[in-house]
Amino acid sequence: MGSVFSGRTGPRGGKTAVESLLKVQINQTRKAPGSPAAPRLVFDAADVAEVSYGPLRWHVHVDETEPHFGGRRRWFACLACSCRRTTLYVVGDALACRVCLGLRYASQHETERDRLFRRAHKLRDRLGWSGGVADERGGRPGGMHEMTYCRLSRNLASLTAKILSDLEDWVEGAERTF
Ligand SMILES: [Zn+2]
Repeated sequence: MGSVFSGRTGPRGGKTAVESLLKVQINQTRKAPGSPAAPRLVFDAADVAEVSYGPLRWHVHVDETEPHFGGRRRWFACLACSCRRTTLYVVGDALACRVCLGLRYASQHETERDRLFRRAHKLRDRLGWSGGVADERGGRPGGMHEMTYCRLSRNLASLTAKILSDLEDWVEGAERTF
């Protein structure tokens, strides 16, 4: 399905990375206050939020769901596609979701992640451990010096930690709908 803003380019031309944009999050009031430049979010009523940024102002429908694990969860209904979103972005005078705005995460970010994976796989190969970063550690390969094993497995552990925290950020940033 095509979206209203698909293919739209950022202020400087080319695809804009999500990370560099102004965004409003449904739960932003509960988190640490954003930068002074962040859009303002006020809930006018149970199901309407007003988002404002400078002279710009939008009224966004708010949906509430009750997850199986209890509690309540609030969502913005994207102004363009009406899908449930936890985060909306400001581009020009539009407020919409990442998908509608044709945004993607910085490719540099992906390259960095790929690089980490490559290095981790290389270390696992040297250690003779099968599988990927989420797989079990193996033991010290026969013939490998204790010091070498120690250094390689320590490097791998810190790489793995970086990869996992990077993926965690990515998952948190990805908007979920249900
Ligand atoms: Zn949308």
